[in-house]
Amino acid sequence: MDIDLLYAEVMQKLILENKIARVSQKLISSTKNDDRVQQVYDVLKGSKMFPKPMIVQKCAVKSTVYRNLGNKNFQNHNDYEAWQYYNLALLHAPVDSVDYIFALANRSAVFFDLKKYEECLNDIEQVSNMGYPERLKDKLLKRESSCKEALSKPLLIDEKNTDAIETMYSMKGSRNPSYSNSIEIYEIGTLALRTVIKARCEQPDWQSLFNIISEVEANLNTEYRGCTRVDDKWVYDSQSYATIHALVSNIEKRSVSDIFRKGVTAAVFLHILMKETEFLKDAKTGIVKRVGGLLLHHIMTVPTNMHGISVNTPTSEGKYVNDMSLGSAAYAFFSLLNHSCSPNVTRFSRFGTGNMKLIAIRPIKKGMQLFDNYGVHHATQDRESRQSTLNFQYKFVCTCEACVDNWPTYHNLGAAKNLPKLIAEKKKKILSPNAIEKLERGCKDIAMALYKPLCELITVLDNYAPCVELADCQESLKQCLGIYEGFLPFGFTKVIDWDVS
Ligand SMILES: [Zn+2]
Repeated sequence: MDIDLLYAEVMQKLILENKIARVSQKLISSTKNDDRVQQVYDVLKGSKMFPKPMIVQKCAVKSTVYRNLGNKNFQNHNDYEAWQYYNLALLHAPVDSVDYIFALANRSAVFFDLKKYEECLNDIEQVSNMGYPERLKDKLLKRESSCKEALSKPLLIDEKNTDAIETMYSMKGSRNPSYSNSIEIYEIGTLALRTVIKARCEQPDWQSLFNIISEVEANLNTEYRGCTRVDDKWVYDSQSYATIHALVSNIEKRSVSDIFRKGVTAAVFLHILMKETEFLKDAKTGIVKRVGGLLLHHIMTVPTNMHGISVNTPTSEGKYVNDMSLGSAAYAFFSLLNHSCSPNVTRFSRFGTGNMKLIAIRPIKKGMQLFDNYGVHHATQDRESRQSTLNFQYKFVCTCEACVDNWPTYHNLGAAKNLPKLIAEKKKKILSPNAIEKLERGCKDIAMALYKPLCELITVLDNYAPCVELADCQESLKQCLGIYEGFLPFGFTKVIDWDVS
């Protein structure tokens, strides 16, 4: 199902029938998202243009094929590939079937090999709840006790170090030397759909959700924006849907064609929810209409507010310089931060946790504002190109110091003027070619050793900003953080496609 293609077809049809002006006028005069989606829905319905979604049925045969591929890879010690094949076997296995049990049992063996003991125990527990197949029982019970034994032993030095560091500094990191903190946005529609479904599932009924929304919307222009009322107090709770609903959609800055395009996505999702799922079963017209509006609202909030989650992976030369995107998620608290092309914080997320923290990468004095980076950094892009990206995606004109003073990109930065010799030498000593090489290779020891001296250097060098010395230190600091975040081993980057044919 290709929504872009559908949009192009609808536009063509409207042009041919000379209806563009009328549809646009109606859309412009609407003030509510509910009405906007309703209008687009009527256009699609009138033209019988709703696409048929591809339905994928569970299938024991497919599950077995994937499980066998998993077994083959597991025997050849390709654990990460085996893991992915067993996931596919689970996806295709009919609910509560033996295929499902076998796929889980086999996956637990991969987890055991990878020393992922908790994951292994989870799989075994699920199998036991569904009833052990007799021929696997002994093996699984043995694996279970080995897991418990391994978990009772103290952590390896390696894991201990990283955890200790994280507690010490509560760190964040980004990884590659291209200042990439980029927020890669994809699957916008499905993220919006997921947000709406989750919002409803967290409430006992539709009315409870609508009550929360009314409360949030009444607070939009107050200091309690995004807050929830708890015992007569307004609190900002990152777990609450209120924070997500209050994210900006920039509706007033969007063109009518942009709204129409997003309306098409919302209308298609609404149609699928109505016709192919039980989500809107027995829902009255008013509720269906509001869900359409909610879908459109989130299709507009997602591109501006979602944060990419990525992980470091090594290249074939063993350099940990690649960003591998794992997905996107809403972190409402982080959406409160404004952007700077020379940010003073960076986000840190330990691989596999989904938790995000902020780490300072420039000195922050009491009362100073925190600035995140929305994907355009002064070191890699000139002012014109940054401003154009920010205006297109986030609808604002950046007035950060790098933009106001037109700071040069990295290659034109130049050395700091009047930098005391002692500081210049310290920087040279800390960031020796050998140290840089080790950082690129993901060496944890050097990351541990350099973190504190780099923080100290950055504090001093900030007085000389912008300069190449500061940029180098910040970048190395981010590399240290990237190493603490954890990375995928080489070979994992091979992602096996979900073949539904
Ligand atoms: Zn800027």
